[in-house]
Amino acid sequence: MKIFNNKKDLKDCLLEYKRNKKTIGFVPTMGALHEGHLSLIEKAAQKNEIVVVSIFVNPTQFDNVEDLKKYPKTIENDIKLLTSVSCDILFSPSVEEIYSANIISEKFDFDGLEHQMEGKFRDGHFDGVGTVVKTLFEIVEPNKAYFGQKDFQQLQIIKKMVEKHHLKVKIKGCPIYREEDGLAMSSRNTRLSTEHREIAPFIHKTLRKVQKKFSTKSISEINKWLENQFKKQPLLKLEYFTIADEKTLKTAKNKESNKQYRAFIAVFAGEIRLIDNIRLKN
Ligand code: AMP
Repeated sequence: MKIFNNKKDLKDCLLEYKRNKKTIGFVPTMGALHEGHLSLIEKAAQKNEIVVVSIFVNPTQFDNVEDLKKYPKTIENDIKLLTSVSCDILFSPSVEEIYSANIISEKFDFDGLEHQMEGKFRDGHFDGVGTVVKTLFEIVEPNKAYFGQKDFQQLQIIKKMVEKHHLKVKIKGCPIYREEDGLAMSSRNTRLSTEHREIAPFIHKTLRKVQKKFSTKSISEINKWLENQFKKQPLLKLEYFTIADEKTLKTAKNKESNKQYRAFIAVFAGEIRLIDNIRLKN
């Protein structure tokens, strides 16, 4: 595996592959890699000749300074993991390499997708995500890029950005990879206390129950039921729960048969903010 910290060297290397008509699959990450990330890399390797992974903890997408400071950094272990899977190139730039002296976000219009859910609670988050992903796409110029449905709103926003900016890359959404007890894998899980780690699978269990209820109960009944479930869990603090249209991400009040719905949740387990989602069937 080749490792680059510098975008010029990376571009020179990629140019050679592109001259030889090799297809390039790209997986952007913030590191502290786990099997969820590795599943994206495997998908990329199945469909592309060269796989590029980036590790970059992007400061502009953090609305909370403490969260940024405490974001887990495990680069040596990440490199070990990447050499054990089909990663050809790791791009691990510094903040200056991506932003120069101006660590600010570009402003994006994602047709309202950015104002729902995470956008309501994490000010400027999606401008930060859009800025860094667009910059990385400009450097890597991949044929395909892989994103997890774990961050479903982010996935839809990236698709929108590609559409609106006429970028050439194809965006591929990949299923949520979970621990055996159902907890969605996340780099932040390593920061959970023992007692919070024990209770955290409750989030997915509750979403599974929502999935069952969805065919027989109204959305308002489900919302009330879910709030009550979390009131009985003093270790978990519900930030939001919403059943939304997958396309617009707007909260649904009533079910319409021609729409596809998904349930989204954000929960604090102590200081650690966890998100998850699940697809619903009418
Ligand atoms: P992150 O390093 O958290 O920014 O994530 C990098 C990419 O991995 C994003 O596209 C995430 O959606 C994806 N990802 C993170 N966790 C999971 C998971 N448990 N299952 C599938 N994809 C994931």
